[in-house]
Amino acid sequence: MDDCLFCRIVRGELPSDKVFENERLLAFRDINPIAPVHILVVPKKHLTSLAAAGDEDGALLGEILLVLRDLAAQAGVGASGYRVVTNIGADGAQQVEHLHFHLLGGRKLRARLE
Ligand code: 5GP
Ligand code: ZN
Repeated sequence: MDDCLFCRIVRGELPSDKVFENERLLAFRDINPIAPVHILVVPKKHLTSLAAAGDEDGALLGEILLVLRDLAAQAGVGASGYRVVTNIGADGAQQVEHLHFHLLGGRKLRARLE
């Protein structure tokens, strides 16, 4: 996707504060953090959201969750707790249309989701 923001970050055309990278995934700090730890994990392959993932993406999605687990531990919130969120579509308030998972931690998050 030529003009997709996160594809451009993946390609290195836009800068990011990277915390993890492998052949399939990139993780970087959110530019507008809402918690002391706020990291985004994205697949390098463009998927618009979780809704666009296919059954063939199961391994990729599983890898994302395990990387989130490891990044939480690396960020020092593995024991204190954290939240993993992915927003999907208009009612999910998704702003960037490239699948991403938020890792939020380092403060007490509200129990009630909205
Ligand atoms: P969404 O609402 O789509 O789930 O979340 C998009 C996230 O991307 C927001 O938390 C926003 O702060 C973050 N974001 C938007 N543009 C950029 C950017 O250029 N760089 C980084 N690092 N994060 C961004
Ligand atoms: Zn993209």
